Amino acid sequence: MTRFVDVPTISRLIRRVGPAEFVRGMADTMRADFCRWESFDKCARVASHSDVGVIEIMPISDGQRYGFKYVNGHPGNPARGVSTVMAFGALADVDTGYPVLLSELTLVTAFRTAAATALAAQALARPESQSLGLIGCGAQSEFQVLAFHTLLGINDVRVFDIDEAAMEKLRRHMSRFPGLQVRPAGSAAEAVRGADLVTTCTADKTWATILTPDMVEPGMHINGVGGDCPGKTELHADVLRQAKVFVEYEPQTRVEGDIQQLPADHPVHDLWRAVADPKAGRDSQEQVTVFDSVGFALEDFSALRYVYQLALELNEGQDIALIPELDDPKDLFERALDTAGQSITRKAA
Ligand code: NAD
Repeated sequence: MTRFVDVPTISRLIRRVGPAEFVRGMADTMRADFCRWESFDKCARVASHSDVGVIEIMPISDGQRYGFKYVNGHPGNPARGVSTVMAFGALADVDTGYPVLLSELTLVTAFRTAAATALAAQALARPESQSLGLIGCGAQSEFQVLAFHTLLGINDVRVFDIDEAAMEKLRRHMSRFPGLQVRPAGSAAEAVRGADLVTTCTADKTWATILTPDMVEPGMHINGVGGDCPGKTELHADVLRQAKVFVEYEPQTRVEGDIQQLPADHPVHDLWRAVADPKAGRDSQEQVTVFDSVGFALEDFSALRYVYQLALELNEGQDIALIPELDDPKDLFERALDTAGQSITRKAA
């Protein structure tokens, strides 16, 4: 049987462990997987683009488990009452190919993206970092703030969005976390002024420049989250030129990340090396570091692994017959007739 984890189940799991513990557990699983990076069979995700968005499949395997995520990115969706990012995924046993988990991944993707940016900040930001400037207060934003609060002890957050209601939503949600102060700013420049950490998390399928060189201060660490598709960027090219840039999986980020604006031989650095070894991170206190995040399959694999482990431990989710259970594995036809027979009988009744 396959464990099925739907949206209500994920919400229950998050409530049972608490959102802070959930993001911490996911980040721990991800850190462990980044540290064994070379044991994964990896490839760039397979993307199908349209004028309004993208639909992607993200596969990966560590030789024991195989995982994939289905995910979209449609910046115009909120205006149609649908989320920009929606996802589901599966985890399978490599020995047999049997799918052991089928899970919702929309909520989980928000946690995994936040866990990845917080892990990157732990590896790359100055250790004494205390403040975060966040641009873009949509669906991902609370998860970003939660992860930075939980994993880096950030309590001072300034936010900006062109949509005032989105800023207010973020401030309201975060007010339930004691000690955490979220203040709306009047502009992107005001939100990031004096911040140790900056996250850009906007959605617009265009060559946007959310962060320009005049807004960047020495020693800042920048997470560029929303520039994750060909023709969809957030950081001015000069921000990247002046920084030490870290990427998840270079072949994918060259096509999808903010670095698509730079020549193909512009040097970038592996995030996994900096997560595994602090010496591979920033070179000086004054250096500006950028995590050009696009979202990589390994992060979803970690998220699926964590969800599966929690679902089993806390006995949540449902075992479903996704794959036919057969007395004789060569006799699939009998099961086909079974099902057809039942539905014919039901119709006749
Ligand atoms: P969303 O549509 O819910 O929110 C985006 C927000 O950005 C909106 O509130 C919008 O008003 C704001 N915005 C747009 N242009 C802006 C501007 N110029 N200045 C300030 N604010 C602006 O989207 P979401 O689900 O929160 O996702 C945010 C982005 O993150 C998307 O681009 C998505 O594709 C990307 N994303 C990346 C990863 C990753 O791993 N890197 C994972 C998930 C989502």
